[in-house]
This record gives sequence, structure tokens and C-alpha cells, in this order.
Amino acid sequence: MPLEEYKRKRRFDETPEPAGKVELKSGHRFVVQKHEATRLHYDFRLETEGVLKSWAVPKGPSLDPADKRLAMQVEDHPVSYFDFEGIIPENNYGAGTVMVWDIGTWEPLSPIAVQGKYHPGTDAEASAMLAKGDLKFRLHGKKLNGDFALVKLKGRRPGSKGNEWLLIKKNDEYAVKGYDIDEYDWSVLTRRSLAEIAGDAGTKEWKSSRPASGRGKLKAAWLADAVAKLDKKKALTAGKKKH
Ligand code: MN
Repeated sequence: MPLEEYKRKRRFDETPEPAGKVELKSGHRFVVQKHEATRLHYDFRLETEGVLKSWAVPKGPSLDPADKRLAMQVEDHPVSYFDFEGIIPENNYGAGTVMVWDIGTWEPLSPIAVQGKYHPGTDAEASAMLAKGDLKFRLHGKKLNGDFALVKLKGRRPGSKGNEWLLIKKNDEYAVKGYDIDEYDWSVLTRRSLAEIAGDAGTKEWKSSRPASGRGKLKAAWLADAVAKLDKKKALTAGKKKH
């Protein structure tokens, strides 16, 4: 049962996450969720085989082919998780803030490149590549585009759970040298930043974990702006409640 682990870890009377089921038909969507849990990470999910195959990527995906991003495979998620954005309450599995960071479609690529280029493949090829631990695919997202590979690490290092993969951008016209994921902190569904989704608590945490470097200053200005907007909204709501 592909969603057994997903359901075992969650209490659906406490978390706003969907219970979900295995779908009979699979589309070819993908979602990347930015998730501020115990540690900030990005969840990379591909819709296939009736579920969302899922990897937790601590540093997030990159469009720079020089970045090989560690991606820990986690339990399959239901397809209805696709547009989940919000707050998982304290004391629940994965407690913290979730942003829909990118969405789009994906297509399987043929496992063998022809003259350095990959060409569209079949779902059967994708399933075989997934099972083998070397999946080639193309993304059509709002932030992520082009060809990627997810490659399972074979050598088991001490303390490894055997669920470690690398997410790697292939060299193509969508590659971006020196890609900085922090410049893309907005929800593709609601345009909100993670701090805006989290509200005050998340904002405080976020502030204290970032030193005031050159880039930090820029972010601080942006944060101040987000906080000001939030305060204004709260003041408005408070005002309305009085009437
Ligand atoms: Mn997560």
C-alpha cells in the first residue's frame, strides 16, 4: 500500500493536510513545496503511479548544473497534496509552514542521450528508471524548467538510510550559473513569502537565523515590508471585529 506510511505518520483530525488516496490515473504534474519544519527544506514531488513520489531536498533544487543537490526519498504523498499550502500545527509530523514554491508538468526522458541531448520517453521507461535509481525527466514549471536527473546513491555511508539521491540539472538552455534559490521566496499560488504564510512566529525565527550580510540587508528590507503589510492587515481585521 503506497500511502500507508503517509497515513501512519499523520493525525488527520489535527493537521490540515489531506488524507488522500491512490489515484487510478496519473497526470504528469510536479510540485516543489518550501517547508520550514525543524529544518528548512524543499519537498520535490512528481505525480506518477497514482501518487506523488517525494524527495526532501535540504538546499532545494538548483538550475546550476554544477550543484548536485542531496535529495532524501520520503514516503509517497497523495496527489491531493499537490496544492497544500499552510501551517502544519505544532506536535504534528512535519510541523511548520508549507509554501507551494513551484508547480508545473514533467515528462519522462529516454534514458540514453543522443549527441548530448535527451528526448521524450515513455511512462514505462520512467517507472523502470525510478526502480533503477536513475530517472531523467524534463520540467515545465513557473520557476524550474529544462532537463534534470534524480540519481540514487549506491554506496551506503555510515548512518545512511539508503534513501539518498542527487537532484542534478542537465546542461541546457535553462541552466543558470550561480542559481540562488533564496531570490525566489514566493508562492506560485498566492505570491506570499514564507514569512507571510507563517505569520509572526515564523518571521521571528527567520530573522534570528540570518546574519545581516549584504544580501541580508536586502532581505531585511523585504522582510520589513512583509511584516508591515501583515501588521496593516491585522489592524484592519481587528478594526472590523469591533464593529
Ligand atoms: Mn517536508
